[in-house]
Amino acid sequence: MVDLKSQYQKIKKEVDAAMQEVIDTTAFINGPQVGLFAKELESYLDVKHVIPCANGTDALQIAMMALNLQPGDEVITPSHTYFATVEVVALLKLTPVFCEVSQDNFTMNVDEIEKLITPKTKAIVPVHLYGQSADMEPILAIAKKHNLFVIEDNAQAIGGYYTFSDGTKKANGTMGTMGTTSFFPSKNLGCYGDGGAVYTNDTELAEKIKMVANHGQRKKYIHEIVGCNSRLDTLQAAVLRAKLPHLDTYCDARRKAAKKYDEGFANHPNIKTPKIEKYSHHVYHQYTVTLEGVNRDVVQQKLSEVGIPSMIYYPIPAHKQKMFEQLGMRNGELKITDWLKDHVISLPIHTEMDDQTQEYIISNFIKIVNSLA
Ligand SMILES: *Cc1c(COP(=O)(O)O)cnc(C)c1O
Repeated sequence: MVDLKSQYQKIKKEVDAAMQEVIDTTAFINGPQVGLFAKELESYLDVKHVIPCANGTDALQIAMMALNLQPGDEVITPSHTYFATVEVVALLKLTPVFCEVSQDNFTMNVDEIEKLITPKTKAIVPVHLYGQSADMEPILAIAKKHNLFVIEDNAQAIGGYYTFSDGTKKANGTMGTMGTTSFFPSKNLGCYGDGGAVYTNDTELAEKIKMVANHGQRKKYIHEIVGCNSRLDTLQAAVLRAKLPHLDTYCDARRKAAKKYDEGFANHPNIKTPKIEKYSHHVYHQYTVTLEGVNRDVVQQKLSEVGIPSMIYYPIPAHKQKMFEQLGMRNGELKITDWLKDHVISLPIHTEMDDQTQEYIISNFIKIVNSLA
């Protein structure tokens, strides 16, 4: 699905030197590279504060802890997402309230949000899924009207941005109260292990986020609030500093590959390509299509027989996971979410796609789908 090896070969000199410097100075924890990376990412995203942490799941947890949400508070989130988004809500004993997504762009259906708001609702957590921005302008308007926090789960869409109706552009993750991201190796900006970050334009909140991520302390050994221990290690920060200058090129390569897929599958009766929303600069963390009139699982099996990897993101939506049975969610309540789990399929997309490989994927995918239609 990804080719991290070829990507590394192209930047080997920079990455190796950066990592060697960390080892030579043995500043493995909170070395200067961590703060430098945070500053560089702030300037890339045009956001006031970036607080690095250990991974994207921690970033979500730290964000929610910093808002002082209380057990029983309700958080509106999609069910069609990576499970971490919802897991953190449950871990903090908050109540997830699942919002339907749109069938063509896979992100939160903004027309469904207001119906879910109750006096207990405290936050909305939109997910910029597969690299496409959720429709932030209406989400922010709803949040403002009902006085809710917005935490953008930006694990899949760093490098992408949203265009508001007045033409203003803002980086994904910088529009709400906070944004969170993951530097898992296969993400659009991936390190060589685990990493994550929280970002915000709110200076007071940034202080709180730093405290939460650092054992609830502002000063060493003075623990003011309950926190956790979540750090980006210096070696990962060094890798990320070497890779950040390439992020736009990486996103462009993904967009180019997506365009080639789009053209290859255009007007196919059984393959629906991802909708490109005008407001979103899509950075294709995944290239995900929906299949109709064919058995998706058989298509996947036949793809693997000709050596083409594919993935199902995600096979079981959050509201159907065993741990949420206790919430008594009824089957069929999220019709589109339930439909998507049986119809989505993601094809390989990464920064190193070559035309020949992609042509092989496109022609075989079409051949297989046609043979089963
Ligand atoms: C990857 C991912 C996360 C979690 O990130 P980790 O670094 O693996 O903890 C959270 N949300 C979404 C949408 C993701 O894709």
